[in-house]
Amino acid sequence: MQIAYPPTDHAHDVTIDDTFDFLNTDDTDDGFPVDRLPTLDAALGWFVDRGVIHGEGADRVREQATRDPSLGERELARVRAVRSALREVAQAVVEHRPPAAAALDTVNRALHARQVIELVPSTDGCVTVDHRHVGDPVDDALARLADPIVRELTAGQPERIRQCGGETCYWFFYDTSRTQRRRWCDMSTCGNRAKAKRHRARTKAVAGATPDGAVATPPI
Ligand SMILES: [Zn+2]
Repeated sequence: MQIAYPPTDHAHDVTIDDTFDFLNTDDTDDGFPVDRLPTLDAALGWFVDRGVIHGEGADRVREQATRDPSLGERELARVRAVRSALREVAQAVVEHRPPAAAALDTVNRALHARQVIELVPSTDGCVTVDHRHVGDPVDDALARLADPIVRELTAGQPERIRQCGGETCYWFFYDTSRTQRRRWCDMSTCGNRAKAKRHRARTKAVAGATPDGAVATPPI
């Protein structure tokens, strides 16, 4: 079914930060895996919050999932599969290696479900750009979330795609720093943890050599 929505407030602009936030919902807490999208309902809520799906579309999927729970499970499994495939692509970019073929297949399938752009008459008698949603709202959302990585690879700066150096943190981030040497998803969490750990290790190492064990905090 093809549904035309009004063009007002309809850009669905997705930034690479949104995409990484999506990837980072596959999270860890104290080294243990935590899925921040534990249910289809949570995933749909997240999509609506980020503007990659319409509230009506999300409600429609919820209704379908209530009528047919196996469909709901398949939708959630697809969200997680695309997220995992996008993580593999981002990781491959970070590691300068080709991504796994299965991950590329999954991402490419997701991209094919993207919106169709078309020209429509505008209210001022001229012409404007609108888009049609051509498939399932979840497919549409996943295609939109995959887009910024494609844009980065084709016309952006993929070398700015980074993964946090935190010991138990697997977050991706886009390094906008001038020097492009940012190492942590967040200086106040992972950066400080690593700094404290280095400080402890250094203090321990020199404790036997210096009477007070004093050591300067190493620079980040
Ligand atoms: Zn981190």
